[in-house]
Amino acid sequence: MKHHDVAIVGGGCVGLSVAKHLAERTDLDTAVIEKEHHLAAHQSGRNSGVLHPGFNYPPESKKARFATEGTRRMKEYCDDHDVPCEELGVVVVAKTDREEAHLETLAEQAEANGVEYELLHSQEAIREHEPHAEGQAALYAPEAASVDSQQYVYALAREIQNAGVSLYTGYAVEEIDHTASGYRLSTSNGDFAASYLVNAAGLHADTLAHQLGVGEQYQVVPFRGEYYEVRPERAHLCETMIYPTPDPELPFLGVHYTRRTDGKVIVGPNAVLAFGREAYDNTDLDPSDLAETLTYEGFRKLLASKTMLSVAWSELNKSYRKAKFTEASQRLVPEIEAEDLQQSYAGIRAQLVSDDGELVKDPLFVERENAVHILNAVSPGLTSSLPFGDHIAETLAAKV
Ligand SMILES: Cc1cc2nc3c(=O)[nH]c(=O)nc-3n(C[C@H](O)[C@H](O)[C@H](O)COP(=O)(O)OP(=O)(O)OC[C@H]3O[C@@H](n4cnc5c(N)ncnc54)[C@H](O)[C@@H]3O)c2cc1C
Repeated sequence: MKHHDVAIVGGGCVGLSVAKHLAERTDLDTAVIEKEHHLAAHQSGRNSGVLHPGFNYPPESKKARFATEGTRRMKEYCDDHDVPCEELGVVVVAKTDREEAHLETLAEQAEANGVEYELLHSQEAIREHEPHAEGQAALYAPEAASVDSQQYVYALAREIQNAGVSLYTGYAVEEIDHTASGYRLSTSNGDFAASYLVNAAGLHADTLAHQLGVGEQYQVVPFRGEYYEVRPERAHLCETMIYPTPDPELPFLGVHYTRRTDGKVIVGPNAVLAFGREAYDNTDLDPSDLAETLTYEGFRKLLASKTMLSVAWSELNKSYRKAKFTEASQRLVPEIEAEDLQQSYAGIRAQLVSDDGELVKDPLFVERENAVHILNAVSPGLTSSLPFGDHIAETLAAKV
């Protein structure tokens, strides 16, 4: 049995950030326990890699605070640790009067959150930033950046190991029990004892929390997001990042264009129910995960809403019919053609849903006497990872 003061389950950007800040704040003997042999195998390495500087989130919300501060801190971190990061800026395009009106809300939020922005009121003004994008108005936010999220995760891992944190990869935590002195974690590679626990298990955080009777009113519903890559000869169609105006009712930002730090332009993601927490291909199916989702009353209530049902249908179409995905892409860049889009990777979001059928939109963690369970490290969780991990480390350190 291995003994540590703190066991952090999950070596994604959030778990590693908690470890980094615990090492900076305390002398605790900390271990990160990660089930995969390679890091960044799930959300932290399968995303758009965009630093969102806080204009999408209401002032005073945790999301706004963490995203705005996270964007600034992450740029410094990438600079200091040689992680590719480019401040390209983003153009959020409105195609209808309703969307244009919502841009005003985004502008107000940007103002209140201290985020730089400019409202563009014509097609000509949009084209000065993105010559191939089409819309009647847009919000331009120059601080948005593109980052290599996998290299960021590995930089965090190197840093925490240099700071004395033990990183165990290839150890899947199967069961967690309370003991007189803290917790016993049974893994695929032997047992651990720890006085303090941080559950940062992403797509599986709810399952582990439920074992300890925590967060039973919530369940993770996995939503797959698929990406296409624009073939290199047509990558000039997006110079920076082009987003649609988000629907405030939905937690996902919609199919968008991102120029990655390696120069590739990716389009996506859609948001379709995944038939398993790690079912990355649209033919993958994990029967027990799927049954868990379909029998969850929160999921059934969620689907009972007409809006969600119609969104689910349209997203499903984008997943199984490339023509529909192309249509969504053409809404922002009309010149893009189906043959310009080559199927690329997919990511799965751990979307927390409550028993009453609500999508939990804000970051959520639950404290216990000697534990913190991170149940919803929701997007923009990559952007927010430094201040969010710092906040969790501070919360845990106060318990010691
Ligand atoms: C498609 C997509 C696009 C996104 N785009 C953006 C974006 O552009 N910008 C942004 O800011 N955010 C984005 N996000 C959100 C962001 O990626 C996540 O919020 C963030 O990565 C969450 O990090 P995490 O560490 O909580 O989760 P993860 O990266 O999933 O890490 C959890 C880790 O726990 C491990 N684990 C799970 N169970 C166990 C167990 N039982 N034992 C041991 N280890 C375990 C997993 O293997 C995993 O490595 C996106 C997410 C997705 C899916």
